[in-house]
Amino acid sequence: MTIRATAAVLKKPRDLQLRDFTVPDIGPDEGLLRVEACGLCGTDYEQWQGHLRDWGGGLPIIPGHEVIGFIEAVGSNAAKRWKVAEGDRVAVEPVIPCGHCSQCVTGAYTRCETDSGYGLYHGTKVAPLLWGGYATHLYLHPRAMLHHLPTGVPPDVMTLFNPLSNAVRWIYEVGKVGLGSTVVVSGPGQRGLLATFVAKQAGATSIIVTGIGKDARRSSWRGILGRTPRSMSTRTIPSRACAHSPTESSPTSSWTSPPGPPRPWRRPSTWSSAADGSCSPVSRVTIR
Ligand SMILES: [Zn+2]
Ligand SMILES: [Zn+2]
Repeated sequence: MTIRATAAVLKKPRDLQLRDFTVPDIGPDEGLLRVEACGLCGTDYEQWQGHLRDWGGGLPIIPGHEVIGFIEAVGSNAAKRWKVAEGDRVAVEPVIPCGHCSQCVTGAYTRCETDSGYGLYHGTKVAPLLWGGYATHLYLHPRAMLHHLPTGVPPDVMTLFNPLSNAVRWIYEVGKVGLGSTVVVSGPGQRGLLATFVAKQAGATSIIVTGIGKDARRSSWRGILGRTPRSMSTRTIPSRACAHSPTESSPTSSWTSPPGPPRPWRRPSTWSSAADGSCSPVSRVTIR
């Protein structure tokens, strides 16, 4: 029986249209995913605006690269390699690594030089067409990377596997956050909120989230922390010359939990200053 797939195709900037596709026959090394849900990433929004039209797969394209779903069909070789069977619930990594380039062989496969993967890399002119998660079905390339998922987690929560895994890496691996750490999270977007959650799980005793005024009213604080913040204050942090004391210039809301005794602020050693006086965090933003 021929399976039909429906996908949202970005034909031009800000123009998503539903389109039907014929699902390809699956060979022994391939698979087909029945998409359960797809995360919405900041990159998706940029893509929808048209900022990425000259990059990767161009347009038209099926967006969506944070995909979870169920194995609909799988070839015999692929089933052994991925250790999956039809009906299994899996997450699909956005990148399809080549396994041979210098990035892949040094372990940095997410920066694979072949630029292959889902949602961003191949348009609808590249067979077998189903390269994006905004669809009922996703083609599973022989080098796709799959992860088994638990069955009891709701799909909207499960789609956080991608940004949450980044938060875990930033907090534990890069930031080395542990019991008693003080952590600064720059911006309470999706990833900032998840980094806040992970920092709390890691044992950080003081978490400072910087943002703009309206961020203080985010209803998600309670979900992230299990309670409302103990202290929420508006203070100013210089937008330039942030190597100096945070006492003036652009207004910024910040929230600290728990409040604890005030400590002297000092510039983290991992922040770099540019010649114009501006500065940016370099991988680790922790104030002790
Ligand atoms: Zn993403
Ligand atoms: Zn590679």
